[in-house]
Amino acid sequence: MAKTENIVFINATLLDGTADMEPQVDRAIVVENGRIAAIVPTGQAPVGPGYRVIDLAGAYLMPGLINMHVHFCGSGKPTSAGDAGALMKKLDNPLGRAIVRKLLRKSAQQQLASGVTTVRGAGDPLFADIAVRDGFNSGKYVGPRLIAPGTGVTVPNGHGAGLFAKIAETPEQAAALVREIAAHGADVIKLFVTGGVFDATKVGEPGVLRMSPEIASAACAAAHKLGLPVMAHVESTEGVQVALAAGVDTIEHGAPMTDEILALYKGAAGTQLPGRKPSVTCTISPSLPFVKLSPEQTHSTEIQKANGDIVCAGIIQSAREALDNGIDVGLGTDSSCPYVTQYDMWREVAYFAKYVGVSNAFALHTATAVNARLLGLGDETGTIEVGKSADMIVLEKNPLDDLSALSDVKHVMCRGAYLEHPKVKHLAELDHDLDWIMEQPVD
Ligand SMILES: [Zn+2]
Repeated sequence: MAKTENIVFINATLLDGTADMEPQVDRAIVVENGRIAAIVPTGQAPVGPGYRVIDLAGAYLMPGLINMHVHFCGSGKPTSAGDAGALMKKLDNPLGRAIVRKLLRKSAQQQLASGVTTVRGAGDPLFADIAVRDGFNSGKYVGPRLIAPGTGVTVPNGHGAGLFAKIAETPEQAAALVREIAAHGADVIKLFVTGGVFDATKVGEPGVLRMSPEIASAACAAAHKLGLPVMAHVESTEGVQVALAAGVDTIEHGAPMTDEILALYKGAAGTQLPGRKPSVTCTISPSLPFVKLSPEQTHSTEIQKANGDIVCAGIIQSAREALDNGIDVGLGTDSSCPYVTQYDMWREVAYFAKYVGVSNAFALHTATAVNARLLGLGDETGTIEVGKSADMIVLEKNPLDDLSALSDVKHVMCRGAYLEHPKVKHLAELDHDLDWIMEQPVD
């Protein structure tokens, strides 16, 4: 943990992260030993020695954002994923691994600077995310709370093979690979159950089932035996069915549902980690650029564009069906995908409100309190409450009025470490196109 001091934020307009949050004016939030020690009217704030007092002059203080799906190895510039795979093989040596670690650390720090205080990795090369997490936890570097999968589990010719996942050919190999990843110190196991947009060869094939039900089940059972939850890349209805029956805890991306799938989400299979019900992680950010931009802009083929359209519609429909049926929906960006930067969680929150059709308050609540609960961190973070970790951001404008207020984070505090005016390194070309996408109507 980074060194923390006791801080009192005064004159804050508090948004506490709960489902029906309303701005609470003139609040003082007292932070001691990295935790929220008290929330009182500004007039009752402790101002004696031992406290650094920061006057927010009415600015909005809310829980730090939580991003449930991030690859740290890319910037979001639309370059070919194939090149990255070849590059990663060259980097599998001591110097190369140090380069990868630094790359991942910088990405995680961009997430933090943009207001993300907790981030779950979704698969990166060479177990580097685990080393980065340990560097943050020990206080060597300032960074967000990081939930690290180490590397993913895939099958021959499966999504992520050789890049951010290792290959299992049989159920026995899958179980052994899960135990190996856990031994490296992973917090979660990532499976690649179906294909993705970039490795599809035909229109309509982005979510073709690649992992057999037997391999998925063996991987989930091995993970759960070690107390680890399982997240899975799934982009088709068939894939969701297989993944939920096997025991996957969080479906990443998602696809249109059936009645059987609804029952599985409600726990019908009984295969998930004890105490957990499956949820779906909505990721509109990586799919919307395929829909709105030209194949030249996203560096994709016509087939990839067509599949991108299918995946995007499926993700949005899945999130709507989930909410209509009382199934939890989390939010993540899939950073590193073309047009998904390490600093745009706010766009996913805004897309969720706009395309799935929820209120700004519910979108903010999802990106904070709901995501925390889905990660098993509901008692630790996600709301501004006494006793919780001091994970918070300060905004000049009210995000309940306009979610783009989240794009301008004035200050960040993560586990009590205070970052005043954190700097985000913007990619101007991407910002330009993404701002254009944000202006387009829902059609
Ligand atoms: Zn991903």
